[in-house]
Amino acid sequence: MTLALHDPQSGFYATREAIGAGGHFITAPEISQIFGEFLGLWCAQVWQVQGRPAKPRLVELGPGRGVLMRDALRALRGIHDFLEGLELLFVEASPEFEQIQRKSLVDQKISMRWVRHWSDIDQDRPLFLLANEFLDALPIRQFVMTERGWCERVVTESGDALSFALAPIPTPLVVPAERGTAAQGAVLEVSQASESLVEDIGRTIATQGGGALFIDYGHASQGFGDTLQAVARHKHADILSAPGEADISAHVDFAALSESAQRGGARVWGPIGQGDFLHAMGIETRMRKLATANPTQSSDIEEAVARLTNPEDMGSLFKVLAVMPPNAPTPPGF
Ligand code: SAH
Repeated sequence: MTLALHDPQSGFYATREAIGAGGHFITAPEISQIFGEFLGLWCAQVWQVQGRPAKPRLVELGPGRGVLMRDALRALRGIHDFLEGLELLFVEASPEFEQIQRKSLVDQKISMRWVRHWSDIDQDRPLFLLANEFLDALPIRQFVMTERGWCERVVTESGDALSFALAPIPTPLVVPAERGTAAQGAVLEVSQASESLVEDIGRTIATQGGGALFIDYGHASQGFGDTLQAVARHKHADILSAPGEADISAHVDFAALSESAQRGGARVWGPIGQGDFLHAMGIETRMRKLATANPTQSSDIEEAVARLTNPEDMGSLFKVLAVMPPNAPTPPGF
């Protein structure tokens, strides 16, 4: 997964502009400006409720085309106190995407830094963190229940093509009983990369203050199932036939990530549906205001909001998880 997405020569994210109507997939901030605005305001509100701690650090993981942060910063323009001491950091693996982000944020007055890895950031300040459709791009491992026990699903070469195979030796895994009984053929997915990242973020937020929002498509309760998928040009594609040509992702296991954040000492809220979150943040009011200001675009604005919030669209498959200090009050939107 990591090679297919990030190989410097032929990885999916390293070589093309993947996101947007003209790319391979479209994301919430690309659909409506309200999305980024609300996430920016969410951070400022959490900061205010926590007594406006000095030197807050705002981090976005995987900023794509930089649209989310552009909208967030526009919404934050009036909140000078928050912006004044703010350090803005982007975690972006792809130099190609970093260039796109720099371009889209070029007229911002605030100073910004880019790093390749989360571990490049010091954890010495209150942390406000936003991650939309980031965790789904982190690698997962899959294990399949066989008569020998859990065998890891691996990628192998057969002739010129790649194919899936099972490791001959089972992996001794302890699977919590809440997942239910695994029948033969059941698939267990584990994302160690996401879990250790979220635990780390939870630890910083628990000790330094702040708050994080993770938004992704995924499941709130744990079970078994194969969710690995490839998408190219807005359509499902074969996972192995052309690595680097398609986006590869997996559903986010929000139950596992909630546990990870708690292991780090933080408290979690949600996951709740993206629709419920955006409604609670006041998306109708904001939509009406935007539509009144741009009457010729009012039906596009309404359509975009419906797409983000309708349960049959992105409203319920996409979920929002907040990671907060253990004693902080309910965050906005929950
Ligand atoms: N948040 C954006 C983009 C989502 S696409 C949006 O909502 O539009 C995923 C983004 O994460 C891309 O910018 C991709 O280059 C970046 N990315 C994927 N895997 C990464 C990793 N392991 N480390 C850092 N960035 C990564």
